[in-house]
Amino acid sequence: MKAIVVGSGAGGCMAAKELAAQGVDVTLLESGRAFKPFSFKTESFEPMRQAGLFLDERMIQMLFPEMRIDKAQDGMVHVIGRCVGGTTALATGNALRYDRFLADIGVDLDAEFAELEGEVPQSTGHRGNWSPLTERLFSVFEDLGLEPQVTPKFMEDPARCVACGKCVLGCKFGAKWTADKLIEGVPGITVETGVTVQQVVIEGGRATGVVVKRGFATEMLPADTVIVAAGGLGTPVILEASGIPTSPTLFVDPVLCVAAKWEGASLDRQLPMPFVSEQPDYILSPYFDWLSFFFNKGWRMPQGDIMSIMIKMADASVGSYDGKTLDKPLLDSDWEIIAGAVDVSHDILEAMGIPREKTFFGTLNAGHPGGCLPLTEAEAETLHNPALPPNLYVADASLFPRSMGNPPILTIMALAKKAARLAVS
Ligand SMILES: Cc1cc2nc3c(=O)[nH]c(=O)nc-3n(C[C@H](O)[C@H](O)[C@H](O)COP(=O)(O)OP(=O)(O)OC[C@H]3O[C@@H](n4cnc5c(N)ncnc54)[C@H](O)[C@@H]3O)c2cc1C
Repeated sequence: MKAIVVGSGAGGCMAAKELAAQGVDVTLLESGRAFKPFSFKTESFEPMRQAGLFLDERMIQMLFPEMRIDKAQDGMVHVIGRCVGGTTALATGNALRYDRFLADIGVDLDAEFAELEGEVPQSTGHRGNWSPLTERLFSVFEDLGLEPQVTPKFMEDPARCVACGKCVLGCKFGAKWTADKLIEGVPGITVETGVTVQQVVIEGGRATGVVVKRGFATEMLPADTVIVAAGGLGTPVILEASGIPTSPTLFVDPVLCVAAKWEGASLDRQLPMPFVSEQPDYILSPYFDWLSFFFNKGWRMPQGDIMSIMIKMADASVGSYDGKTLDKPLLDSDWEIIAGAVDVSHDILEAMGIPREKTFFGTLNAGHPGGCLPLTEAEAETLHNPALPPNLYVADASLFPRSMGNPPILTIMALAKKAARLAVS
């Protein structure tokens, strides 16, 4: 049997690995190229930054093509990875199980999460690398009753982590685990990069292959089974082009940082999100936001002098992406959640001695898209939307029934593992 998997992120690499384990001959198609970490010293851009030459977040793609930036109509900045490993290459490495909303509709991923424990390196053993300031922040979170938890991290080798603070620019030290490790050296998987899938070909009610663009050439690649895992923004575009309707229920988990000047904070040289406080509709965590640092006027101060608390919230499922226009409005209910989280962030900074009037915001951004082919209770066992032909599956956050407001990689992998098995069962 020959299968095509579209996209080499968390979902695609996990699906490819599972298919290969079942003896399937897998071709993994990726529009990006092999990942290279951001190779410049961030300090070297200081004169340009101070001169205000970093005008638009999309400019980062000239320096770092693996980081793909889209802007929604309302200006929210959307970040995804376009490379082998997908967005895991840009992730801060948080390894959190978060499948409550899937369990609510009857999706049972216990077995898959149990397997992932032995399959993907996860570690909380990074506390020895924390700075005194991070420890102090942890205590402040505790004192405010925010119940911070040390974040489990996807770490290939914790000993190699030098806490450089640049996980989201790619790990140069081989400390961070990324999804491409799942398929490294696995027999039966061929990875083709620079290949953009345009549509799945459906004939006689079955998927017979995919149409791809490779350079200027367009060709059809045949397959017995197709799994689309092009990410929460990529998958709906391919499905729509294949005549499969998706739903305008995009969520993205918006991120907003509440920051302040703090000389010598050195948050830029700390492991990002070393601990997390989980609240009903959002999480809070210390985080140095490189996008705000480069592009937000309010952040024009030395990179070592910024203290920042990240809010990541679960947004309403309203929005769509057609490959050109990203329509992702935030509703009043979203802004209410953000306002509440901003208040708590101010409390944290006040407890550190920073008055509210001295704080400033980061740039509103997001990097957890999904929800455009949401699973329902009826699909809890099959993970298969009835609009899809029987031999076409989706294996990414498009299947999530709603936003989690939490890091999704682990849950995407658990879902992809199960979907891949069902695809060939
Ligand atoms: C800065 C940042 C930090 C993050 N940190 C964390 C974290 O610490 N923990 C966590 O759990 N989550 C984190 N996330 C979110 C997480 O990384 C993503 O949600 C997750 O990796 C998505 O996995 P995926 O496989 O569904 O999609 P993606 O990783 O987006 O992979 C899809 C792949 O498909 C490719 N593709 C798209 N369209 C096509 C096409 N037409 N043809 C061929 N290939 C295509 C893309 O190039 C990409 O490589 C972070 C996100 C960002 C932006």
